[in-house]
Amino acid sequence: MKITEAEFIISAVRPEQYPEDALPEFALAGRSNVGKSSLINRMIQRKNLARTSSQPGKTQQLNYYRVNQKLYFVDFPGYGYAKVSKVQREQFGQMIETFLGDREPLKMVLLIIDIRHAPSKDDCLMYKWLRHYNIPLTIVTTKADKIPKSQWQKHIKMIKETLEADPHDRVVLFSSETGLGRDELWEVLLSQMEE
Ligand code: GDP
Repeated sequence: MKITEAEFIISAVRPEQYPEDALPEFALAGRSNVGKSSLINRMIQRKNLARTSSQPGKTQQLNYYRVNQKLYFVDFPGYGYAKVSKVQREQFGQMIETFLGDREPLKMVLLIIDIRHAPSKDDCLMYKWLRHYNIPLTIVTTKADKIPKSQWQKHIKMIKETLEADPHDRVVLFSSETGLGRDELWEVLLSQMEE
């Protein structure tokens, strides 16, 4: 996809701040440091629009990025950060559940998993929420450049098994470093917009 415009819109901490123009939204969920910001930057071909290694304590903040006046990427706070308190963890859970349950323009959630590691408990919980709310999802295994190609399929199998994923769930292999998976992921997003 050719990017003509990509813009940071808002760090929303309350639902009243979410955009009201009803453009389709694609949310990204994953643990801190998994590479969500790098993935957004690679998708929109900007070096630094999405802040890499964003502040982990901000458990309520949804970062909205608008692309080509056509869709939003919504970056969820990274979860699993050790220094986050129990209260913050609960706030995160409530915010995400409300969002997933109510957010009309939400078209799909990209569950971002580091291809090298088994999904965490939080990843598994997120997966279950998505199923529970019946939200279309795509699993994106990022940092693919960090392991040999010969091991990709083995790791994907392990990741799907740990998530107890549906065999039909789509998995996109991605690398923000090399650009692997960018075209495929854009195809997934654009075809979802037509659903
Ligand atoms: P976030 O916390 O999920 O937004 O993660 P970041 O995008 O800040 O990435 C965390 C670290 O992983 C940074 O040092 C990135 O440069 C690195 N990283 C992210 N994606 C990739 C990737 O696909 N390949 C490699 N080799 N490194 C990556």
